[in-house]
Amino acid sequence: MDTKKCLHCFEEFFPSNGNAKYCCNEHYKLAKKLRQMGIHALIKDFKNGYYRNFKLFNKLLPGKGTTSISVMDAKERGFNEMAFYRIAKDSGNWDWYRVSDYWFTVKADNQELVIYK
Ligand SMILES: [Zn+2]
Repeated sequence: MDTKKCLHCFEEFFPSNGNAKYCCNEHYKLAKKLRQMGIHALIKDFKNGYYRNFKLFNKLLPGKGTTSISVMDAKERGFNEMAFYRIAKDSGNWDWYRVSDYWFTVKADNQELVIYK
């Protein structure tokens, strides 16, 4: 069966039926709630940012590994540090942000964006 992209988080999923638009019931409900709250435009902005981050990361790091780019360059190419899915700390207590199957972090000292897949 073909995978689809969830309209809320853009993660790929296997639809349980042909009409399924969300990866899970939680994202269906969350999307509905956010629509009802009237902040659709905000969500759309977030999704655009998230998708641009994903596209940029995919261009910079198509396979597995680690790469880095200056934050300034990344921003010129559409990087949005607020558009991520979840946060995790590494063993050095450093925050990493998730975008699809990528993680990124910004090293504050040298303004370097590090991307890991
Ligand atoms: Zn989802």
